[in-house]
Amino acid sequence: MKLTTVGAAGHVTGSCHLIEAGDFRILLDCGLIQGSRKAAELNKEPFPFDPARIDAVVLSHAHIDHSGRIPLLIKAGFSGNVFAHTATRALCDIMLKDAGFIQEHDAERENRRRKRKGMPPVEPLYTADEAVAGMQQFKSVPYDRKVRILPSVIIRFRDAGHILGSCVVEVWLTEGNEERKLVFSGDLGHQGAPILRDPKIVHDADLVLMESTYGDRDHRSWEDTAEEVRGIANATRNAKGNILIPAFAVGRTQMLLYWMAQNYNDNGFSDWRVFLDSPLAIRATHIYAAHERLFDPAARQAWGKKPMESLLPNLTYTRTASQSMAINEIESGAIIIAGSGMCTGGRIVHHLKRNVWRKESHVIIVGYQAQGTPGRLLVDGAKRIRLFGETFQVAAKVHTIGGLSAHAGQEALLSWYDQFHGRPPLVLVHGETRAQETLRDLVKERYAAPVHIAAYGDSFDLAKPIPFDD
Ligand SMILES: [Zn+2]
Ligand SMILES: [Zn+2]
Repeated sequence: MKLTTVGAAGHVTGSCHLIEAGDFRILLDCGLIQGSRKAAELNKEPFPFDPARIDAVVLSHAHIDHSGRIPLLIKAGFSGNVFAHTATRALCDIMLKDAGFIQEHDAERENRRRKRKGMPPVEPLYTADEAVAGMQQFKSVPYDRKVRILPSVIIRFRDAGHILGSCVVEVWLTEGNEERKLVFSGDLGHQGAPILRDPKIVHDADLVLMESTYGDRDHRSWEDTAEEVRGIANATRNAKGNILIPAFAVGRTQMLLYWMAQNYNDNGFSDWRVFLDSPLAIRATHIYAAHERLFDPAARQAWGKKPMESLLPNLTYTRTASQSMAINEIESGAIIIAGSGMCTGGRIVHHLKRNVWRKESHVIIVGYQAQGTPGRLLVDGAKRIRLFGETFQVAAKVHTIGGLSAHAGQEALLSWYDQFHGRPPLVLVHGETRAQETLRDLVKERYAAPVHIAAYGDSFDLAKPIPFDD
């Protein structure tokens, strides 16, 4: 019985973990590596296992850094099922197809460049059609029900409160007479966040695999965060500028819209024009409304199945490119939410081109920004950034609001682990080095628990006591 970390080890993106039990092999997640162009190149490397010999994939949630290599895995010979929560399946339906379009588009652009240089063309990682075809292999699993997915493997999904359908995954493995239980946190949600319920607590595990994105930081309280956003809105209004919010299509976007709707009357939001400039995020917002049974009681009552436009009357959905371009004419009073979340492409880049050099405008960063992305440069205070091959001065004010994050902060990660009985061995994944080292030291100090930062290719024999030497 073995666990091997083959992704999101020493990084945040590219989540992928291999479990071997008896004659079976399963993958926990199969995500795309995101970030700089060099990081993205790693997606083209062959998998460090034979995809045809994987019996099943268990998917924690729909975010591309967890699901985005599934079509590639299928292309490389994987013919088993992908077990995912019902809402994850609905979201993957639109997200993987969109990822396929992006891959096709990137390959086309690269091939134009290659043609000019007389180089042979490259293939897209996978196409939109391939992504759609792969959805046939998805099987829906609800929360809180034990499901035997293979003769020696049982899983149960628990609400992780991170995005719609996100799961903490419990896995029971048997080999001969031995039984072991592994718990994978997936991405853990931010407690008290609007819309979704808080992450479920699990008490028993022989090994815990936990994310550590914000292992070195705590988020501000929701009240302080609201105050912070109010301050930015006032400053932008006085300066007569716009607010740009690069956001992932699923999760942060719906949270922001809902949160603005909740504060529509008292935050002065009614004076603004809010644009959701992302066809994918618009579709994801509809999928949220269709799964309102997964909301927390307050959101069920306030949002329910109602269209978001009825909650937030100043919201405009811009679907077409020409509608999106029309926003460029607006010099002040617009809140523009667009992707991609790390500003590596998509419509947000066009809006940055129009606004980033204007001192009147403000950029609000709400999500994790991987190293090497324009979003990370903005967070790190770069004076200039390159957008579509052109260099722009950064005069707009850039704010990073951790309080709007979709991830648990440091204290919440610690207390989630603290709920396990008997301090099971803890393996940290999905984090940058500094966050992971800080969290590891705290776990040791507070709980005297065995904790290890996963490196790529690390293997743990679950049938034996796990020797951690960190
Ligand atoms: Zn996520
Ligand atoms: Zn993630």
